[in-house]
Amino acid sequence: MKANNLVALCVGLLASVLSHAQTVVLTGTVLGPDGPIEHGSVLVRDGRIVTVGSDASIPRDVQHIDVRDAIIAPGFIDLHNHMSFNAFPRWKPAQEFGARYDWQQKPVYNVLITAPHKELVELGLVCEAERYAELKALAQGETSTVGSERNCPSVNLTRKLDIDPGLPNAPITIYNTFPFQMTAEQREVADKALSASPHGSLLIHVSEGAPRDASAAREFEMFKQQGFMRAGVNIIHGVAIPAAGFVDMAKAGVGFVWSPRSNIELYGDTADVTNAHVAGVTMALAPDWSPTGSVGMLGELQYAAAWNLAQEPSPFTDRDLVIMATANPARMVGLDSQIGYILADRAADLVVVRRTSRDVYASLTHAAPQDVMLTIVRGQAVFGDLPLMKQWNGVAGDSVQICGEVKAFALNMSLPTAIEKLTPAIQRMGRVLAPLAECGE
Ligand SMILES: [Zn+2]
Repeated sequence: MKANNLVALCVGLLASVLSHAQTVVLTGTVLGPDGPIEHGSVLVRDGRIVTVGSDASIPRDVQHIDVRDAIIAPGFIDLHNHMSFNAFPRWKPAQEFGARYDWQQKPVYNVLITAPHKELVELGLVCEAERYAELKALAQGETSTVGSERNCPSVNLTRKLDIDPGLPNAPITIYNTFPFQMTAEQREVADKALSASPHGSLLIHVSEGAPRDASAAREFEMFKQQGFMRAGVNIIHGVAIPAAGFVDMAKAGVGFVWSPRSNIELYGDTADVTNAHVAGVTMALAPDWSPTGSVGMLGELQYAAAWNLAQEPSPFTDRDLVIMATANPARMVGLDSQIGYILADRAADLVVVRRTSRDVYASLTHAAPQDVMLTIVRGQAVFGDLPLMKQWNGVAGDSVQICGEVKAFALNMSLPTAIEKLTPAIQRMGRVLAPLAECGE
């Protein structure tokens, strides 16, 4: 992918269209838990899915939005990100590293990533960066994210699963902890969440590095010794985990978050997901961050699909990969009764993607950024094609160009202001604001 592109701002009309209750029927190919429903409909009311079915079940007296050439899928759920870093453009490491501690100690990493991020914090712009990252996520069809800054006020963009998922009785999700840097207090919080009923979840970076890196392999041994092999825990990266380790994880109910692009860009290889899949480990796909991973879930799906095709034999089907972006991450954080599926009485977190092939799953794993036609969070259209946004919200929103197509965001914030604040600040650091999307070749 090359990062030409994007932000041509036409400027904003609206500020706050996200508050009024709405009933909408969306008609297209609905991706239900048992497979695609051609000419299906989803009735959304007050942020929830009310009914799902064939055209015949559509009530006549509500607003209809027809996306018959598109796929209506559950919104993508991103379980591994470091959001505010996504304001920075792609970092192309010239060399591959052995372990995560290698690149973190390189002067270039400090110059390009750590120091500018610290400066953003000092300038009081980290929440602007966080919001900009949420916009990037929404444009990639993401409706839930993790890895947000704790102190930024919510502007009702993505659901922040580790801070405030905004879902009734949501179990606690703990994120962004390196197991061997956990304080006793953090450990206590994690143990309490994991022992609760229903239990919460811990998303934890373990064994990041090259597959044969001894220190990364040792991290997994320490992880086991410290009693983390338990249901509710999900390992992020795990590049150095051996096949037998995945068998133990499956038995214990430990999940796995796979970030192939970031692994391969940094270390030249990724986790042994073939054996993880064979062992029956519940797996999610997530981008890590956009400096070395994908811009968001759509890009990571495309990357994973290309990687998968290059394997002999391919370990996954396109359907497996889509489940790793929707239902599996919901299960891994104990939210599968609320998000990750298009079913009645679930949250109306949806993505509408242009259908480019007969195979619905392949359409999703090969979609380009401009194919995202609508992203719906809490039953509100927050990103998408102008006509659809207008139908849903009554007004189009702040328009932007994504890979040559005009799209819009409907926001409780000013998009031009966020970009106007970030752009000069990041330029003064000798860098540029990351593009909202990366357009394929
Ligand atoms: Zn990470």
